[in-house]
Amino acid sequence: MSPLKIRKNIVKNVKRIVIKIGSGVLTNGKDKIDETIIKKIVLQTSLLVKKGCEVLIVSSGSIAAGKTELGIKKALTDIPSKQAAAAVGQSHLIGYYEKYFKKEKQKTAQVLLTHDDLSNRCRHLNARNALMTLLSFHVIPVINENDMVAVHEIKFGDNDTLSALVAHLVDADLLVILSHVGGLFTGDPAKDKKATLIPFAEKITPDLQKIAGKSSSPGSVGGMSTKVKAAKIAADSGISTIIVNGTINDIITKVFKGENIGTIFLPSQDKLARRKHWIAHTLKIKGKLILDNGAKKAIMKMGKSLLPSGIAAVTGNFDSGDAVDCVDSKENEFCRGLVNYNSRDLKKIIGKHTSKIEEILGFKFYDEVIHRDNLVIL
Ligand code: GLU
Repeated sequence: MSPLKIRKNIVKNVKRIVIKIGSGVLTNGKDKIDETIIKKIVLQTSLLVKKGCEVLIVSSGSIAAGKTELGIKKALTDIPSKQAAAAVGQSHLIGYYEKYFKKEKQKTAQVLLTHDDLSNRCRHLNARNALMTLLSFHVIPVINENDMVAVHEIKFGDNDTLSALVAHLVDADLLVILSHVGGLFTGDPAKDKKATLIPFAEKITPDLQKIAGKSSSPGSVGGMSTKVKAAKIAADSGISTIIVNGTINDIITKVFKGENIGTIFLPSQDKLARRKHWIAHTLKIKGKLILDNGAKKAIMKMGKSLLPSGIAAVTGNFDSGDAVDCVDSKENEFCRGLVNYNSRDLKKIIGKHTSKIEEILGFKFYDEVIHRDNLVIL
């Protein structure tokens, strides 16, 4: 089947959609939210809802709206100022959505989340239940990061990641990212005239992620790199992602007509089970283990757990039960998992046989540092 046919089939059959709108789109590259852009997005979204789709919106823009309200022109750099601006701006932002959705006879709800909410298993399920209930009430959730309380450790950092985690949370069929850049290019279109659009990405490979890292995105928090990372989170959950230029007229309508616009990322063939997806993409990574080639082979080729003998070095401070990255000697990351030992104890037993664990630490919880059930190949 041709890529265009695949795309048309995907958009034709979707029911639950997450649409992420970046600050750069809402401000159209300027320093103030353009209300008419929200109005246009709302009109197109309402058409989808009237056709029977369920839509969740992840919208940035609270900081931009707050800056306008506070009369601040310069870029805010410190976290408390951003938090204050977000607190002022969030009500204005939600006000715009409410005003225009109301005209279309649609109800909205404000949902503010932090990374901590989704990495805590219990709060994760609470958020899922609440969002599902909103959808069953035919309400359109308008979601943003709860910037007021989100300091570095509990921040998603960017709404691209948040949108993908929301798509996973509600089992969406499609994630649409409205960006200031029209998709993934072979280079940075702002600097490289020869850069061409990649319209169709069947698989999100490390090479593709590297290409995205080269692209800048003015007015955007995360740039193209976090957008492709978001597409990977969605793909691992069995969800397609389309990244398009959100400033194009009728862009949402065009996407759902199946027009060949922006970049579409297909879902992974091997969708991760919910728990493994949570380990791989929702938890904050607290440390890194550098593994030798034998351990890498045992994990990748033989489906084994990770034992202390295969670990060459440990970085970071973590507790048992935390998520860590595993890299090879060339620092290529290849798996992620929950550790059974904290970093202090682990440093004492790396390179050692499991029979020595008790002798060294004075106790032994497990032979495995990461059990296979808690390990995800990336
Ligand atoms: N939450 C921030 C805001 O609403 C933006 C974060 C982002 O765009 O990634 O202003």
